[in-house]
Amino acid sequence: MTAPVLLAEPTNVRVALAERSYDIAIGAGLISRLGARIAALRPGAAAAIVTDETVAGLHLPAAEAALAAAGVRCARVIVPPGEAAKGWPMLERVCDALLAEKIERRDLVVALGGGVVGDLAGFAAAITRRGLDVVQVPTTLLAQVDSSVGGKTGINAVHGKNLIGAFHQPILVIADTALLDTLPARQFRAGYAEVAKYGLIDDAAFFAWLEANWREVFAGGPARNHAIAVSCRAKAAIVARDERETGDRQLLNLGHTFGHALEAAAGFSDHLLHGEAVALGIALAYAFSVRLGLIGAAEAERVAAHLAAVGLPTRVSDMSGAMPGADRLMELIAQDKKVKRGLLTFILARGIGKSFIAPDVEAGEVRAFLADELA
Ligand code: NAD
Repeated sequence: MTAPVLLAEPTNVRVALAERSYDIAIGAGLISRLGARIAALRPGAAAAIVTDETVAGLHLPAAEAALAAAGVRCARVIVPPGEAAKGWPMLERVCDALLAEKIERRDLVVALGGGVVGDLAGFAAAITRRGLDVVQVPTTLLAQVDSSVGGKTGINAVHGKNLIGAFHQPILVIADTALLDTLPARQFRAGYAEVAKYGLIDDAAFFAWLEANWREVFAGGPARNHAIAVSCRAKAAIVARDERETGDRQLLNLGHTFGHALEAAAGFSDHLLHGEAVALGIALAYAFSVRLGLIGAAEAERVAAHLAAVGLPTRVSDMSGAMPGADRLMELIAQDKKVKRGLLTFILARGIGKSFIAPDVEAGEVRAFLADELA
């Protein structure tokens, strides 16, 4: 019989939010401890695991076995994989399923999956019976370093992405890094863009470490765990300072203003995954910072070179499918972030690890930059 993968003691990162504080446990094989952790936090509670069909086929048996071993009564709710699940019809289905499974106020929801399941199940937990606890068990790199931490939950509306939602912090995050072994390489790469982002925001030493060690991060083992732990620490610190994104938390949007517009232009399709759009957006934010005279060209080239080395897109021409024009991108940027009197808020850079919030970027400058990039 094969023993469960347990490489070392998990790394614990605390998200300090007073009475809403919680732990992020990071390590290989941690899913086997899911039931024990839940039973310790909420003795006697039942759980409903919400997951998607793909993740159910790979990792649901381990999650259910862990809950059963700890005596936690458990139901399952399975949704189709993909961004389309993050909408009203599936939200209604999940909420109804939780009620049909008799999940009561003191029970909880386990979100087992990538960012789509985490956002959908987290939001269903926030509104069912006026709020159920949620445990996030992220299974993509993107979800382990970003979406499972910080409490943003929600679905998409016809008017745009993530427009219906709630802040609903989890009571625990279990990031089992071994679950990433089944993740397709393209999805892992996309999540890596968010890892690199933490170095670029305010940790130049981490970015340099990634430049030297990214192959080991992709291969798995201690380097991967380290990169995930550093990323979670960075996100936890920002969320603790600014839970509701009125200040510093906006820094996490580095690469996202250009990125969201490109993602929307690609129709939120396989032409450009979210993390790929973020990589492209980061490269553009650095190139734009050069154009504004904030940094030298060499630094922007270093950022783009690293993202390109791991196989991420860094130029608009790297997108597959039809390329959008500058006017179309400006329309999408204006929809995503409000333009106030011709000024936009952007995350720009004064160097690697020196990102800052620029609330007064001229929309005309952005348009001219994009037109040159697309030429
Ligand atoms: P995803 O949830 O769609 O997962 C990507 C694909 O990988 C899916 O097909 C899924 O079935 C599959 N998958 C998941 N885990 C797997 C595993 N271990 N092995 C094999 N296949 C696996 O996408 P994502 O990139 O994880 O998340 C993107 C979503 O996250 C977007 O909707 C985005 O808006 C959201 N997001 C939310 C926040 C937040 O703070 N709440 C932050 C960033 C992104």
